[in-house]
Amino acid sequence: MRLILLGPPGAGKGTQAQRLTEKYGIPQLSTGDMLREAVARQTEIGKKAQAVMDAGQLVSDDIVVGIVADRIEQPDARKGFVLDGFPRTLAQAEALERMLESRNLAIDAVIEFKVDEERLVARIEKRARETEAAGRPVRKDDTPEVFRRRLVEFRALTAAVAPFYRERGRSHQIDGMASIDEVTAAIEGILREAAAA
Ligand code: AMP
Repeated sequence: MRLILLGPPGAGKGTQAQRLTEKYGIPQLSTGDMLREAVARQTEIGKKAQAVMDAGQLVSDDIVVGIVADRIEQPDARKGFVLDGFPRTLAQAEALERMLESRNLAIDAVIEFKVDEERLVARIEKRARETEAAGRPVRKDDTPEVFRRRLVEFRALTAAVAPFYRERGRSHQIDGMASIDEVTAAIEGILREAAAA
């Protein structure tokens, strides 16, 4: 099963991706995690991406598409994957389409998280406070100011990705402000329908 979780930062995609990973035994491919790892290891890509990420802007399509192309070749991604945080631009969506077509593969479902942005900002502030209280480092891009910039970036670029999949009849909307369990149940309902179709 190949899935895409689509929605703004802080919408809960990562949490749901982890649950899907456990339930279906397919890896979560989070471009944000992969880029953070590259930054931590100070690879060439990490060095290029660091400042852009800290500012809440998008890393170039070439870099991100290259990372995903390599990752889906790994043995654990053969039976499927959950893409979390990719594609984030129309160019990335088109590149993914070509990447999969050339391997005779397709996306089974795109789950679109619908959210209330003001409540998202409150959610991210809470996440930062809790992380700090637990003595863990807060992500530089999880401060309210940078988070708002990430939302602007989302509206400017990523919002165009949803129509791309809607036009292809693959997109399903869910209420991203519902509880974690309710969102999981909604996603499972969509996947059952997709499997039956
Ligand atoms: P995330 O953890 O998904 O919120 O991603 C954190 C940051 O990594 C983003 O704000 C971007 O700077 C970068 N990033 C992650 N995925 C992508 C992507 N698909 N395209 C461009 N930049 C990305």
